[in-house]
Amino acid sequence: MDYFLDVILPIPLQKAFTYHITEAEADFIKTGMRVAVPFGKNKIYTALAYKIHNNPPTAYEAKTIHQILDETPIITSSQLKHWEWIANYYMCNIGEVMRASLPNALILESETILSRNTSINVDDTSLKDDEFLIFEALQFQSSLKIQDVVSILDKKRVLPVIKGMVDKEILHLHEELYEKYRPKLVRYVKLDNAFKSEAKLQELLDVLSRAPKQREVVLTLFTLQAQNNKPIKVAELTKASGASTAIVKALIDKSVLEEYHIQTDRVQYEGQDNSAIKKLSEVQNEALNAIENSFEEKAVTLLHGVTSSGKTEIYVSLIQKQLEKGKQILYLLPEIALTTQLVERLQNYFGEKIAVFHSRYSSNERVEVWNNLLNNMSKAQIVIGARSAVLLPFSNLGLIIVDEEHEQSYKQFDPAPRYHARDAAVVLANFHNAKILLGSATPSLESYFNATNGKYGIVELTTRYNNVLMPDIELVDLADKYKRKRMKGHFSDRLIQEMSIALEDGQQIILFQNRRGYSPIVECTTCGNSPQCPNCDVSLTYHQFRDQLRCHYCGYNSAMLKNCQACGNASLDTKGFGTEQIEEEVKVLFPDHNVARMDLDTTRGKFGFEKLINNFEQGEIDVLVGTQMLTKGLDFRHVKLVGIMNADNLLNFPDFRAHERSYQLMSQVAGRAGRTDLRGKVLIQTYNPHHNILQQVSINAYKDMFKEQMNDRYNYHYPPIYRLIKITFKHKDYNKVNLASDWFAKSLRQVFKVNVLGPEFPPISRIRNLYNKNILVKIPQNQSLAKTKEAISKIHNSFNAVKDFRPVRVVLNIDNY
Ligand code: ADP
Ligand code: ZN
Repeated sequence: MDYFLDVILPIPLQKAFTYHITEAEADFIKTGMRVAVPFGKNKIYTALAYKIHNNPPTAYEAKTIHQILDETPIITSSQLKHWEWIANYYMCNIGEVMRASLPNALILESETILSRNTSINVDDTSLKDDEFLIFEALQFQSSLKIQDVVSILDKKRVLPVIKGMVDKEILHLHEELYEKYRPKLVRYVKLDNAFKSEAKLQELLDVLSRAPKQREVVLTLFTLQAQNNKPIKVAELTKASGASTAIVKALIDKSVLEEYHIQTDRVQYEGQDNSAIKKLSEVQNEALNAIENSFEEKAVTLLHGVTSSGKTEIYVSLIQKQLEKGKQILYLLPEIALTTQLVERLQNYFGEKIAVFHSRYSSNERVEVWNNLLNNMSKAQIVIGARSAVLLPFSNLGLIIVDEEHEQSYKQFDPAPRYHARDAAVVLANFHNAKILLGSATPSLESYFNATNGKYGIVELTTRYNNVLMPDIELVDLADKYKRKRMKGHFSDRLIQEMSIALEDGQQIILFQNRRGYSPIVECTTCGNSPQCPNCDVSLTYHQFRDQLRCHYCGYNSAMLKNCQACGNASLDTKGFGTEQIEEEVKVLFPDHNVARMDLDTTRGKFGFEKLINNFEQGEIDVLVGTQMLTKGLDFRHVKLVGIMNADNLLNFPDFRAHERSYQLMSQVAGRAGRTDLRGKVLIQTYNPHHNILQQVSINAYKDMFKEQMNDRYNYHYPPIYRLIKITFKHKDYNKVNLASDWFAKSLRQVFKVNVLGPEFPPISRIRNLYNKNILVKIPQNQSLAKTKEAISKIHNSFNAVKDFRPVRVVLNIDNY
């Protein structure tokens, strides 16, 4: 009997791909093991074994696999089920989910490597032209890949030439599959055995009295060893002794110290573990009990607690109980780079049990978390991660916490899978029979809606921990201030006044401006023209620091122009304002105080963000100006005042969620103020002080906001009442995008009638030289989502059958908000 293996390839394929395997292989292979397979003309991929069966594929001749790469599966069966759900729900291929899930180091690299056989002498006059070119290239570099040969010879079919040279033993050829993952080695030192005895040691110290720095190192090593009787890392030694690594190296060279290596996990916790878990207040305890009661009936529960109500401490208690039961815990955060504070806090409680899964960590570091989780190691019993952590191999999951569940960054927009991590986490919990707690001070409308209609449980905390007062929020009318000339730059007299008071009292200030750069738009005061990005349909933003114009969509940049490109006059002026300009103005207003800026431009690099947070915590910064990065659950002790420079550009954003998001953003920024006993003050500058959202923010009226917004969603057929699927068409040719999207929309209308909107160009219709056009499909509550997707797939297939449309990229985005 013949055996076949369906595999998942890490590329977008509609169907699983089938290979021929032997009976022995069929016996050995289990779903979730990696296999190396040939694909296409000369590619090799790492694939995941999916299903074994006896049916040969009908459309092609099955190739055989190259080799089996694992002894045991590297993914779990519930994980695979979860991947399948994601692929199915978000209308993408399971290969794309695999790609998003597996750290790169687990997807082996396949490269055919050619090198010269140096053990024979070659008479190069005997070589044919092609052979000579390859031979010559190998004089200059030690090895070549097949792809290199293709470009050297400038033709596709290179294998026969290579094969001929291999047969003549001019070339070595090896197909090398290597794993990129290498465990990290840490350097340790100890005193050389020669100095074991007290006498020898004394002798050494005497000799070293002429090299006091080296002597100090030896003495420190001695103290460290006495203290905890553990191997001493080089890093620890240099830190404790204050010596440079050069001094340590000198001692190693002299054989006073002996160096050795120990293999360790890359992701390692270096703090002091196990601070006592805080005793919950009465209110917190009630909430904890209510959550546990709710879990009895409902796996999903929403914790709606105002900022600084002590939600995190409640999570800690829940985590503690799961640990005692030996279960795994997933703690999801919107953007992990932004939450080092929280990671530290949890590490202080749970120490080594915490594994952080982080896209900014190296692939190797992620492999370690992966393996620890797969093997149910206590080292990864608690996983903290951003959205992609829901794709990990949990084997024994008991609880998921989705912190700041309203955050938009839980949704992945590009590339596929375009999943929402909170929703995918609800499904994941279900597969594991685990509980899931969604936490927020400003829940998303959809979660609060699910709670009010009984689908989710709900627990509310309405007071801050220790009864700290909610901040006092004041709205400042910009129109009035400008009219009465009470503005300095973008600062009203009220804001300047409050800033002066706070600074005099030695308190800190946060200023929020939702735009980076100096000024969003540069405009010619003579002809009104403003410089545009050549690749995208947007105006360029002025960045004063580099005196540059930059595109925030594609990264295009150029030096600031001296003259208008349209009329040639030297009359370019800046309009609107960003964080950079606010920072400048603060420096002028308060020259004796330190101001810093936190936005994408100042936090690049692995530790850029940590450094800023740290400096602010240490009081080295008095005024922190920033974008929405500031809103992400930061806990600062000495922030007295928060200023929102301009609320209007949030409120006027063209999106059905603009009001909901404005409420969330402003409440969250405001929540950074006065987290200790001193009551915080918040000033919101706006041209519309009577706007309902601003009124609701100022008195913390979440429920009023919810009711009013839900009314709009009913009336205008938006989520959470209706569901949405967005279909985007992309092509560099304007007409093609129009024709393709019109055709698609017409077909959709035959099925879904009035519930199809568009096609329409978005506000920014061209990005990176591609035109974008969108169709929105609205799905009423009583219409089956599955059937809707089926109909869309059918139309998509007919679309692809039209030759002219095929080059147009179609992007499906389910729940695109
Ligand atoms: P939230 O997550 O709701 O914003 P936090 O959990 O960060 O609130 O709590 C706000 C502040 O109050 C933190 O500084 C926290 O350490 C402190 N806190 C909360 N609960 C307790 C408690 N039971 N005992 C002592 N301090 C607490
Ligand atoms: Zn651009």
